[in-house]
Amino acid sequence: MTLANRQWLSPFMRQSRQEGRGDADAALLAPDARQAAALRPGPPILLVTVDTEAEFDWEGPFLRSLTSVRNVREQQAAQAIYDRFGVRPTYFVDYAVATQPEGYLPLCDIAQSGRCEIGAHLHPWITPPLTEELGERSSFSQNLPVALQRDKLARLTDAIHANFGTRPVCYRAGRLGIGEEAAEILAELGYEIDSSVLSGIDMRRRHGPDFRRALDRPYWFGRGGRLLEIPVTCGFVGLLSCPAGSRAIGVDLYHRLRQPLLHRLHVPGVFARLRLLEQIPLSPEGVGFAELRRLTRILLGRGQRVFVLMYHSSSLLPGNTQYVRSQLQLSSFLRTIEQYLELFLGEMGGVTMTSSELHAVLLQSQDVTKAAATVAAAAR
Ligand SMILES: [Zn+2]
Repeated sequence: MTLANRQWLSPFMRQSRQEGRGDADAALLAPDARQAAALRPGPPILLVTVDTEAEFDWEGPFLRSLTSVRNVREQQAAQAIYDRFGVRPTYFVDYAVATQPEGYLPLCDIAQSGRCEIGAHLHPWITPPLTEELGERSSFSQNLPVALQRDKLARLTDAIHANFGTRPVCYRAGRLGIGEEAAEILAELGYEIDSSVLSGIDMRRRHGPDFRRALDRPYWFGRGGRLLEIPVTCGFVGLLSCPAGSRAIGVDLYHRLRQPLLHRLHVPGVFARLRLLEQIPLSPEGVGFAELRRLTRILLGRGQRVFVLMYHSSSLLPGNTQYVRSQLQLSSFLRTIEQYLELFLGEMGGVTMTSSELHAVLLQSQDVTKAAATVAAAAR
């Protein structure tokens, strides 16, 4: 499909053109509801995504020297499960993985046999040019000068191209650090898909982005609405969470509970224990199978169709993340993934896609929507 064909694609852009804005920018962080990607009726869709990166101390300082990628070969344990279920995960790789044979070779084997997709994952503190001062704030790339963000992503993209043989089209920012300026940078470097948004979450207290107004389903953004955002799945559940249509109230209430005073009084924890209001990410990291099942059922009930499961590659090498400290915990982690796939692809009748496949399906859905609109207009 040509870019010219895609300009009309989202209803948002149709309106923009009517308003004379033509090639307007469509927001990433606070999108209009009309930017939501149309999806024809069908089964729920699961995407599995892995932030594939160097082992680093999540609690420690950001160091340029933390580039060990021993964990990458351990991905085979989860990949064996995906192979059995026909799941092709997206491995978002950082610069350490993309440039060291110990990082890229195990994934090249999987990618060359078509069993996964390779995306880019920018950890600015280890990606050249290494000109910024290190710290919590600069670990979120949206806080860096735009030219430096662009140069770092260009270096990462080139490294992936050189060592995997293909240019990545999907992106996830390290620590989910993304801002509106990313649209321009991603488009310039040939990306089509971003998956950095964690809808409903406000990370500003730690210098991160504010995703409270982002949509919780795929949507078009950037110049002419040509890029696709596929948000990571995270839901507000509990007696005080809201049915479809008033999700914003749940998001607002959750953030009010996290005000410093209420947080010190452990109010959010009390609400969670009483099952009044909880925020649950779709991830085997710190979330058990029963919770993932509960979250998925609730979101399905609210009409959600696209589910994005995510975790970090370093969780597969015990001792590197807080979620997997021992072989026993690793077995349980892998079992949770397996049980979730059994549930989603079995009992729930779901299907699985790569990020690029979902992108293609959504482009096609827009074509059908356009054809229907043309027929309806002709009939009037
Ligand atoms: Zn990361």
